[in-house]
Amino acid sequence: MAETQTKMSNIDKYRFRRALEEIEQAQGRGTELVSVYVPPDRPIFDVTNYLRGEYSQSSNIKSASTRKHVMAAIESIINRLRQWKMPPPNGLVAFVGHKDVGADQTSMIAYVLEPPEPVPSFLYRCDSRFYTEPLHEMLAEKDIYGLIVIDRNEATLGLLQGKRIDVIKNLESRVPGKHRMGGMSSRRFERLIELAAHEFYTKLADVATEAFLNQRELKGLLIGGPGYTKDYFENQGYLHHELQKKVLGTFDTGYTNENGLRELVEKAKDLLQGLDLMREKALVQRLMEEIREESAGLAMYGEEQVRHALALGAVDTLLISEGLRKLRLAVRCGNCGHEEEKTVTDETTLPACPKCGGPFTVVEKRDIIEEVSGLAEQTSTKVELISKDSEEGQLLLKAFSGIAAILRYRVT
Ligand SMILES: [Zn+2]
Repeated sequence: MAETQTKMSNIDKYRFRRALEEIEQAQGRGTELVSVYVPPDRPIFDVTNYLRGEYSQSSNIKSASTRKHVMAAIESIINRLRQWKMPPPNGLVAFVGHKDVGADQTSMIAYVLEPPEPVPSFLYRCDSRFYTEPLHEMLAEKDIYGLIVIDRNEATLGLLQGKRIDVIKNLESRVPGKHRMGGMSSRRFERLIELAAHEFYTKLADVATEAFLNQRELKGLLIGGPGYTKDYFENQGYLHHELQKKVLGTFDTGYTNENGLRELVEKAKDLLQGLDLMREKALVQRLMEEIREESAGLAMYGEEQVRHALALGAVDTLLISEGLRKLRLAVRCGNCGHEEEKTVTDETTLPACPKCGGPFTVVEKRDIIEEVSGLAEQTSTKVELISKDSEEGQLLLKAFSGIAAILRYRVT
């Protein structure tokens, strides 16, 4: 199955995620939202026959409006599937139905999509919600790293998954401090410390086994901490041998708590270069460096400025925040016919025509990320979608209005 799988580009994944947001918001007034999953090896005529069966079944539905909606949904799916004989390499998913829009009104929502990974088996479901759970698994970041930060007093385990760091457990040791109790020989005290430390490392290794060994996609293990303890723990064979094989390296960190996990990921940066988070961080940092240059160097930010640079073909890499929720509208004045393009966050509050004060109507509507990416593709500009998960991603979204560019040459 893995060989036939087509890898989705970032922008395709983004489109898919956006579609999913809308699909998941939809709620039917009855059990009338139809979800269909078609695996890649299932001939479409086969699916169509199955759906015809469901169609005749649904004529028995008691509620007239639910019956009407279910039948319309199935019919719509059959029509939409007509363009294929066999599904595309990952199969297809269809979500069609009438969603409740309040005030006793419904509106039709219809999506037929190719998912990011192959659909494993055929599924038909009619419910008041669309069935999307399997798609989340497909969209999840698959590179997972185990994280351990440790010194003699404390250890924290975490998982780095895509861009996210999750704390699994924080452990405190019972290793005594520097001050020995009165009457105890220093040798005996040393020995007590060694024993307690050994116990702590053993316990930590057990927790690590439990946390990491069953992570199918675990790519590697990173170990950090302020002193030699991390190295001792790593090279004295405490870890389960399967985990030991996955150790990518040890790194100095100042902390052994949640902050230590963040430090560890930061320190292991070169190692994890392939990870999206690192890519994103590096891109935004590069942008920042350019901005700090005299007269902003090879950087540009803000929607209008970047549009200008794109039009000149001067953009090498376009950085867009996935958190951007804006629309690019083509509007026309109903009174004098004046046309212009506008970027808005809400299409219901359009300004009046600047020429005559008449009302604008929307002629065309596009998601701004798709629209600007389209402009970039025309000039062979690399497009990088930056998540809002990292500090740098937040910076791009908030300080640079979500759109910035690294330029091929300076633009004035
Ligand atoms: Zn006008």
